[in-house]
Amino acid sequence: MGTPRVAIVGAGPAGVRAAERLVSASFRPILIDEAPRSGGQIYRRQPANFTRTYRQLYGFDAGKARALHQAFDRISAAIDYRPDTAVWNIFGNKLYTVSDGRADEVEFDSVILATGATDRVAPVKGWTLPGCYTLGGAQIALKAQACSIGRRVIFLGTGPLLYLVAFQYASAGVDVRAVLDSSPLSAQVAAAAAMAARPSLLARGLYFRAHLMARGIAVHNGVMPVEIHGPGRVTGVRVRLGDGTTVDIQADAVAMGYHLRSESQLADLAGCNFTFDERSGQWAPQCDDAGRTDRAGIYVAGDGAKILGADAAETGGRLAALSVMKAAGMAIPEKEAAVLRRRLAAFERFRRGLLTGFPWPQAMIRSVPDDVLLCRCEAISAGELRHAAREQGAPELNRAKAFSRVGMGRCQGRYCGCAAAEILAGSLGVPVAAVGRIRAQAPVKPLSVAVVSTSLS
Ligand SMILES: Cc1cc2nc3c(=O)[nH]c(=O)nc-3n(C[C@H](O)[C@H](O)[C@H](O)COP(=O)(O)OP(=O)(O)OC[C@H]3O[C@@H](n4cnc5c(N)ncnc54)[C@H](O)[C@@H]3O)c2cc1C
Repeated sequence: MGTPRVAIVGAGPAGVRAAERLVSASFRPILIDEAPRSGGQIYRRQPANFTRTYRQLYGFDAGKARALHQAFDRISAAIDYRPDTAVWNIFGNKLYTVSDGRADEVEFDSVILATGATDRVAPVKGWTLPGCYTLGGAQIALKAQACSIGRRVIFLGTGPLLYLVAFQYASAGVDVRAVLDSSPLSAQVAAAAAMAARPSLLARGLYFRAHLMARGIAVHNGVMPVEIHGPGRVTGVRVRLGDGTTVDIQADAVAMGYHLRSESQLADLAGCNFTFDERSGQWAPQCDDAGRTDRAGIYVAGDGAKILGADAAETGGRLAALSVMKAAGMAIPEKEAAVLRRRLAAFERFRRGLLTGFPWPQAMIRSVPDDVLLCRCEAISAGELRHAAREQGAPELNRAKAFSRVGMGRCQGRYCGCAAAEILAGSLGVPVAAVGRIRAQAPVKPLSVAVVSTSLS
């Protein structure tokens, strides 16, 4: 038997480290990413003709970014790297890809799904106005193109990315009007002991906050967003502060997000079992700490398996590679696996702290007014989803989707799905786990009908 064919989807920290480990064991993995260059979200590379330094681009993470890029460059001749290539389906032992409008198929014996995460967003009145971005979108504008989303920017939501991106914008000279965190300060204080599992990250978070405040930027906790103002485009935000007062803050752009959600649709299409994680309130592909799912040959790693951050993604990628090697009958250095597993355990403790300190604002989302747009692709309001629950008897998310079209558009519920589940559960008076999750459908990323028809013919 020859060397097994191994495919990796995602060239971020998880995918690159998985590929590197496999190359060191004489595999030649196929590394596929829809992005033009390797690095993933955190270590996204700038376009080739841009000249910002690592320090300017990645700040405290400059050393890690350089190390990951160098690792990729070292192995690039030993892998089959396919940038600008999106995987839109997985069926049996084939990945269905599209690159530059051309469909292709990639057969594999094992596949590591290292597809990362996206922002977890929640609707608020006015969030569809031009000038309102996700936190990740705002960061990508800065990191990839050195652009700001506006001149006077408000940061709204919760999670470490809220403070990080606000810090990056302030450092780039943008007028950051306010950082509005829905989590109470008391939750963050309560979580400090768990977050101390990674002291440097905890210190960094405190530094970002202190730096913003020292610049005179208002940082509020326990905030409830009421409305993003227009008309025509963002002109400001109205929020209720922790002390119950309502304030209006002027701005021409808003970046918002409530932590992250895993990109797990390919694992779903591959038939992997999913379990509900009470702490994060999200469904995740069931896997062991070495990335093995319940489907033979299907492995998950990095944020696409569980939101644990970039260092954990590198560790998870290496562990998934070891699992692939073991399945291929190779001897695994047990010491290496044990060290990686121990590291993951510390990341897990930190994750628990983050989820305590920056909780998903369940009550806030359940109380979103009926007229607020929930599903942007299909223009469905929160009230229309509630109607599907109460008047049409939708007991779970997929039935509600069929009745209301929530989650049926281009994004396939990747952006509205978390909030839709919460609003539906609130409407039915049940825990969010009881309404399930929107089942993945191919194509997981928008593509033209012409591509689908060529790949079916
Ligand atoms: C927008 C955003 C910004 C972030 N910024 C920071 C930050 O500044 N600092 C920080 O500490 N953490 C940040 N995080 C979290 C951090 O990026 C992750 O923890 C880390 O990058 C996870 O690594 P990963 O390899 O699991 O996934 P990623 O780095 O997200 O890499 C996943 C890769 O998979 C590719 N991909 C996904 N689906 C497909 C598909 N169907 N077909 C082909 N390719 C696909 C993507 O293009 C991407 O390159 C951010 C996360 C997001 C979503």
